[in-house]
Amino acid sequence: MNVLVINAGSSSLKYQLLNPETGDLLAKGLCERIGIDGKFTYKPQLPGKEKIDAADVAMPTHSEAIAAVLNALVDGKNGVVASMKEIDAVGHRVVHGGEKFARSVVINDEVMAAIEECNPLAPLHNPANIIGIKACQALMPGVPMVAVFDTAFHQTMPPVAYTYALPYEYYEKDAVRRYGFHGTSHKYVAQRAADMLGKPIESLKLISCHLGNGSSITAVDGGKSVDTSMGFTPLAGVPMGTRSGDLDAGILEYLMNKYGMDIKEMLNILNKKSGVQGVSGVSSDFRDLSNAAAEGNTRAGLAVDLFNYGVKKYIGAYAAAMGGVDAIIFTAGVGENSADQRMAIASGLEFMGVKMDEDANKVRGEERVISAADSKVKVLLIPTNEELMIAMDTAALVK
Ligand code: ADP
Repeated sequence: MNVLVINAGSSSLKYQLLNPETGDLLAKGLCERIGIDGKFTYKPQLPGKEKIDAADVAMPTHSEAIAAVLNALVDGKNGVVASMKEIDAVGHRVVHGGEKFARSVVINDEVMAAIEECNPLAPLHNPANIIGIKACQALMPGVPMVAVFDTAFHQTMPPVAYTYALPYEYYEKDAVRRYGFHGTSHKYVAQRAADMLGKPIESLKLISCHLGNGSSITAVDGGKSVDTSMGFTPLAGVPMGTRSGDLDAGILEYLMNKYGMDIKEMLNILNKKSGVQGVSGVSSDFRDLSNAAAEGNTRAGLAVDLFNYGVKKYIGAYAAAMGGVDAIIFTAGVGENSADQRMAIASGLEFMGVKMDEDANKVRGEERVISAADSKVKVLLIPTNEELMIAMDTAALVK
């Protein structure tokens, strides 16, 4: 079985064709600058097939972008499948499922309407996801499509974890609550962790640290998300590449009054000019920050420290929330690649049974136990694979 995984943004579209049964990736790529001057990349993963990296491809809308993807996949010379018949289903990443979707679903008219009702919760992302779904439906009639939501995994959170201490009617009338994001990634690594530990996921308390450009930490108890650091929007939690993470809302009024900013300008600063970029003044990329810190830039060093400290505090909080922890998982760009940051985050947690293995930790991007043999709490490095998780969910639903 082959599943096409689509992640549609407003002017870009990422895709992968995978076999969820074997985990094999057949091809992947990216359509960029849709509606501008169309850029198309195609990377077949089979031997003897040539990749495409083309600029100025006519892509006025997502339809032409998806048509370009399908043409490349079935191309006689460099394609990876013989015909469209070999694409059995499509899995669409959808950012926000609100309280309507606690799991992935086969898309029908009713589901489309419910996704549209979630648009106000993710006004930049959901409409783009919907455009991608509609373009695919038009080009692939009869092919089953599944929506996989970033928020769905977190719908198991109890009220005590998702309720904000605001007047309750804002929850009841306006759906203001913690939703959480990166759910597909947290779900994937939690399942892998159970496999690696050889224990049923129902018996495990896990803390999953998805540390990338955007970062979130999730407490997974018995396979279910019970708390997560992102909130109503992905602005909450630890400081990120350019996002502030949690902060005192009183700061908004103070700065807006002082500099005559409106809420749009303020939010632009919180989303795009804050985080480790804002503190360091150097970069949002942790590699640049480590290099700058090594050269003596103290603000770059502070930015990295602030991030690591933020993650450590969530680990402590979630261990307390679950009444213990069996394993801590590191994943995504920073979590998979930065041995130094994993060490900085996990050090000082010896009191709760975390003991790292310095040599085992000197590794990048492979599944491995990086805690010492006698560590009560296991520390795991698990590369995430959101596309594979989407393909697996899709296959399970359309079979
Ligand atoms: P996202 O999907 O949120 O855009 P990723 O999960 O791809 O982000 O993570 C990207 C981040 O990973 C980059 O900003 C970079 O700081 C970090 N990263 C990648 N490689 C390394 C590395 N070797 N050391 C430290 N950080 C790294």
